[in-house]
Amino acid sequence: QGHVRFDNVVFAYETDRPILKGVTFDIPAGRTVAVVGPSGAGKSTISRLLFRFYDVREGAILIDGQDVRDVTQESLRAAIGMVPQDTVLFNDTIAYNIRYGRPDASQEDVRRAAELAQIADFIESLPQGYDTVVGERGLKLSGGEKQRVAIARTILKAPPILILDEATSALDTHTEQEIQAALDQVSRGRTTLVIAHRLSTVIGADEIIVLRDGRIAERGTHGALLAAG
Ligand code: ADP
Ligand code: ADP
Repeated sequence: QGHVRFDNVVFAYETDRPILKGVTFDIPAGRTVAVVGPSGAGKSTISRLLFRFYDVREGAILIDGQDVRDVTQESLRAAIGMVPQDTVLFNDTIAYNIRYGRPDASQEDVRRAAELAQIADFIESLPQGYDTVVGERGLKLSGGEKQRVAIARTILKAPPILILDEATSALDTHTEQEIQAALDQVSRGRTTLVIAHRLSTVIGADEIIVLRDGRIAERGTHGALLAAG
């Protein structure tokens, strides 16, 4: 369960500027594929298309052989968990935000996910800045802390398919290592799409795809890509 296929995907935000120019790759069920490449290459666009924020212009994205356009938004959201680059939180406690993908989760499970993401200390707090009432007693979260809330949510939801879009980019080096370990744990056995800037952060991926200017320029394991220079 959870085979993802990008089949000759062509995409443009604006008609006159193609962003993906025919991208084909598979993530076998339970495997991890990383997409790396320079800024603007189209990496995040790939994650947004899989989550169906946008639809492809040509080609198709298939999950277990089924076109994502034929899947309801509801079951797509249930099947995929995403840690995006910028997390927008709901106007409620951090615990509520963590529980969002799995409302039935026990208090204990929420706490465990929060501990893995290292935010257990403030899960009863409200994030700041949504309305004046919340603003006065709310907690101002840094980008890294918001990212950790998204990570805790994904750890708790434990969906069959994971999208990690620069999931640890807002964290300091020390926190990054520990949270990366938690993410490695949750992605084990799940189909995982990792978006990363640097090759060095995706050593464990089953396949690495180097995207340049909307095309796959190179692909292989970390070792093979390093050997190829
Ligand atoms: P990467 O993740 O590799 O840095 P992106 O997928 O974010 O690249 O962006 C690829 C290209 O698409 C960039 O040129 C970017 O400016 C453009 N782009 C991204 N989002 C949008 C958008 N919502 N509307 C128009 N262009 C966009
Ligand atoms: P990030 O810079 O964190 O990767 P995005 O992936 O949203 O953020 O955007 C990547 C690039 O796409 C940025 O350079 C941004 O200016 C550009 N971009 C984002 N949204 C749009 C948009 N609606 N129209 C044009 N360019 C956009």
